[in-house]
Amino acid sequence: MPPTVQFIGPVEFSPEFRPRPGLSHVLFDFDGTLSLIRQGWPEVMVPLFVEWLPPLPGETEEERRRLAYEDIMRLNGKQTIYQMIQLTERIRERGGVPRDPLWYKHEYLRRLEARIAHRKEALRHRQTPPDTYLVHGARPFLEHLVTRGFTLYLASGTDEPFVREEAQLLDIAHYFGPRIYGARDDYQSFSKQKVIERILRENGITGAQLLAFGDGYVEIENTRAVGGLAVAVASDEAHNGSGRFDPWKRERLRGVGADVVIPDYRDAIAVLQCLLGEAVPPGPSGPPAGADTTRPEPHGARSR
Ligand SMILES: [Mg+2]
Repeated sequence: MPPTVQFIGPVEFSPEFRPRPGLSHVLFDFDGTLSLIRQGWPEVMVPLFVEWLPPLPGETEEERRRLAYEDIMRLNGKQTIYQMIQLTERIRERGGVPRDPLWYKHEYLRRLEARIAHRKEALRHRQTPPDTYLVHGARPFLEHLVTRGFTLYLASGTDEPFVREEAQLLDIAHYFGPRIYGARDDYQSFSKQKVIERILRENGITGAQLLAFGDGYVEIENTRAVGGLAVAVASDEAHNGSGRFDPWKRERLRGVGADVVIPDYRDAIAVLQCLLGEAVPPGPSGPPAGADTTRPEPHGARSR
């Protein structure tokens, strides 16, 4: 019987969770999952939607704000352009004539850049330690994964040149080597699903060997779709290190089938031991009696 681990903070396992001793490749989302350089991006994108959405008769600004937030977060994890395509569809739905989605994307990036430029500058000139903008506990966990021989991938809906630059500024690019992927101008050439398919194909592995960490629907759903294990990082981006879940992310990511939910990486090494079946979680969140902790599950064998 594997030993029981203790967690410092909250960790939630889904009732269907089963260990996967065969995990070998680990995919990370970037913004909100590792990087906090773009923290606060919804506070730029939501007002932009509200500003450009033609109001319906009797509709309040608060109602438009809520609609915008739902649209934006549902697409969180996909490339930014998809959020802008959604905006143009809403404008059209409401009788407006939208501009090209790319125009909105550029305007969004211009406004976001104004908000985050000082963070990048401070990192570039080493006035701020890189870990300030890394989700709490991420660095020791990345180190641990590399030491244990896992192959790490980074995939982001943010444009690839930004992802590479920001991963460098955070001093985490070296954990991933050439395996960093982001959005391209030709947006149909990239998706997280494509990255996942490529990981499986190039390494000759099945989804049962794939572990993914993300704070958006897309990476959780895409990982689950191939039979991978999905850990939701319901990070409290505005209060890094608080140890609390972002309630909105926690609820939604559980809803799309996350196997485990963590607020940050303070317990990630112990969680990994549980994922691999080397240890069991404490208390009622542990796997049910009789769970098979000795063999990897065959691809696609789980049902939900
Ligand atoms: Mg994210």
